[in-house]
Amino acid sequence: MHKPRYLDEVAELLGDIDAFSGRGASGRRPFQPAHVEPRWPRDRAADVLHIRLEVELDFDRRRIAGTATHRVAAILDDLDRLEFDAAEMEIGAVRAGGEPATFEVREGKLHIGLPRALKSGEEIEVAIDYCAVPRRGLYFVGPDEAYPNKPVEAWTQGEDEDSRYWFPCYDYPNDRATSEVIATVPERFTAISNGALVSSTHNRNAATRTFHWRHDVPHSTYLITLAAGEFVAIEDRAGDVPVHYYVHPGREDDARRAFGNTPRMIRFFERIIGVPYPYAKYAQVAVSDFIFGGMENTSATTQTADTLHDARAHLDFKSDPLVAHELAHQWWGDLLTCRDWSHAWLNEGFATYFEALWCEEDLGADEFAWNLRQDREAYLAEDSREYRRPIVCNRYRAPIELFDRHLYEKGSLVLHMLRREVGDALFFKSLNLYCNRHRGGNVVTSDLERAFEDATGRNLEWFFDQWVYKEGHPDIEVSSSFDDKRKLSSITVKQTHNTSPATPLFRFTATIALMDSEGREIRHRVEVREAEHVFNFPCEKAPKAVRFDPGFDILKTLKHKRGREALEMELKHAPEAIGRGAAARELGREGSPQAVAALRQALLNDSFWGVQADAATALGEIRTEAALDALIEGLRLGHPKARRAVARALGHFRGNPRAASALSSLLSRGDESYFVEAEAALALGRTRDPEAARMLPEVMARESHLDVIRAHALAGMAEMHDERAVSVAREWTVYGKPPRARVAAVGALAKLARHRESWRDEIVDYLLPFADDKEFLVRMRLPGAFEEIGDPRALEPLHRLADRDLDGRVQRRARTAIAAINEGRNRTEQEKRMREDLDKLRDENKRLQQRIEKLEALAIKE
Ligand SMILES: [Zn+2]
Repeated sequence: MHKPRYLDEVAELLGDIDAFSGRGASGRRPFQPAHVEPRWPRDRAADVLHIRLEVELDFDRRRIAGTATHRVAAILDDLDRLEFDAAEMEIGAVRAGGEPATFEVREGKLHIGLPRALKSGEEIEVAIDYCAVPRRGLYFVGPDEAYPNKPVEAWTQGEDEDSRYWFPCYDYPNDRATSEVIATVPERFTAISNGALVSSTHNRNAATRTFHWRHDVPHSTYLITLAAGEFVAIEDRAGDVPVHYYVHPGREDDARRAFGNTPRMIRFFERIIGVPYPYAKYAQVAVSDFIFGGMENTSATTQTADTLHDARAHLDFKSDPLVAHELAHQWWGDLLTCRDWSHAWLNEGFATYFEALWCEEDLGADEFAWNLRQDREAYLAEDSREYRRPIVCNRYRAPIELFDRHLYEKGSLVLHMLRREVGDALFFKSLNLYCNRHRGGNVVTSDLERAFEDATGRNLEWFFDQWVYKEGHPDIEVSSSFDDKRKLSSITVKQTHNTSPATPLFRFTATIALMDSEGREIRHRVEVREAEHVFNFPCEKAPKAVRFDPGFDILKTLKHKRGREALEMELKHAPEAIGRGAAARELGREGSPQAVAALRQALLNDSFWGVQADAATALGEIRTEAALDALIEGLRLGHPKARRAVARALGHFRGNPRAASALSSLLSRGDESYFVEAEAALALGRTRDPEAARMLPEVMARESHLDVIRAHALAGMAEMHDERAVSVAREWTVYGKPPRARVAAVGALAKLARHRESWRDEIVDYLLPFADDKEFLVRMRLPGAFEEIGDPRALEPLHRLADRDLDGRVQRRARTAIAAINEGRNRTEQEKRMREDLDKLRDENKRLQQRIEKLEALAIKE
């Protein structure tokens, strides 16, 4: 599964760590309360060999009906009962080996009594007639009064354990079966499923069409898919592999733009993994209202239709990360599947790292490093603001809770460190061994570890222990000095984090780069494993700059104080853009005229947009008139992502009419990039200039990819703290408005409520009913909004979301918001008590004072 990166980008723009949750910097909580017990992989009595689903979709009644036939083999002797997961469905009849079988449905399980007991290895076919009106697992999408143009579709989402809502099955990843889906849908629809299309039959009398798909490579139940709608197929190829993109008519160009790199990616992944793409075809179906970015159903990925975009968005928005992620899962997740969710980083960490690898292949080393920087920042934010946990972790309430920044981003960074540790050749050799050894099977982390040990000859237990089974990362402090007499450069490296049984001292190999006055570098490899090391390197002259881990390969935080000259040298000469960007960000804290000049130089002339963007951010922090001049010049930069950062930085100049006028003229003339206009709208609001009040309502009318401009204009209006913003935001929360604008409007209302006490009651009252909103995105955003406002009246709807929402992510966010509001309430009550105590003490004090004065007066008299 994938959370698309644009959400992170948008989140970054809105100053949030997570656009959905809007979680603030409220500090780290435990990942799970103490009472949550470990979960172990499930036991199996039988091995499911083949699953055949013959189903009909009724779009009017949003119902599925049909027969699920399982061929199973007994694992143990004397097997006379079978148990399947079957949630919220009606079971009509069960046949085992062709004979009627007894059955009973209890608490989401279908218990079947077999006509006779099986011996170990003996097979039987079990057919289950069923029907369901699913609330999850299978989603029917269609128009209503508020959204009359929404297309009619149905799509499934099995991961993590939701397949049981649309067919009875053994719903856990530690079993694999071949599968067959025979789906009957209205005649104008196409139904897409796993594997090869066996047949497609037009049933004229019934006005339906039956699609028969068969998948011959065993896979886990959560990967079985069915998507149906009025789709057109765009046909492509990667060598012998047919590649299909399914979209609604009229979106063909958008589909090519979004998915067109798929064949190149297939060939690239085949080459680096050394294992050919293993299935009959590769399809991607773009569906509406999808609840994830993408889902890697075997050979038939489901993608959010949000990833389809027009040519203007394509300037600085790409679907490649999403496409690469789901494609990588076809090997990592589908061909090899985590045995249980606690090892799901073997799916998600891999897919996330392969997104980055595609980026490296397609766009080069600097973009690759930027990609990993986003991973690092996402993980570090979760670690510092939310919780810390080991990557492999079996204490959770719902599996979806594990699908977080530790699983994806930290998992990806761990693979990157493993690659740097053993080198490229051995890394890919090990992956090849791991893939070939376990293809078609279930894996745990020790399988990966063993493959690496066998392929490299190295013992890597220490590596997996510290990065995967333990938690956290090193906090590193670096300082350097030069001994002129001995001609020695000394670099001190300390691990300053608190160590504990959960977070050890870390062991890793890193590079130290010493830069001379010409900007040339000499690099040394060092091994760090102690709390403190001093590394000495002979040097004729004092290095002009010392850089620790210049490629940013090690997952860590780094404190390394150096002077302006060193930073300027790095900004100018570091060969990796990631290092120049880091120097730019540090210079932003320095703020001298020389720093501004160096940053201006980088902003206007660096060859990589990311460094230009970092220079812009730094100038925005310095906030002098000279910094402003440089940023205004920067609005002319060629790369839209650099211009985005410039526009964002201009928002730091609160009350500065020149900044506001630069942003307002950008908005008047328009930018070729949606995202630059969006940034400018938010930044203009942040300046709180009267110009914003004039301009932003006009900007609200602009259509853009994912409503990014409107969302940012709404956030900008909230920043102005203008009363009109409350009514505008309310207007855009209404069901019927575009979903992403609604989400942004909820966020804007939260900000406004927090800003002014007198608006708070009204806004909280207004937001309470949104806990029952039909739109999943809105329910996802709501707990964060309530948390931000901190009003205890939100507790009741939050409890409802925590207990009853169908989505585990909404539940978790609601629980987090409840905890935060309660903490806030306790704090308020504590403060109130303290204030009361203080008042009492003051009164007491006053009385004592009066008595003293009286007594003193008496004493004087006497
Ligand atoms: Zn994924």
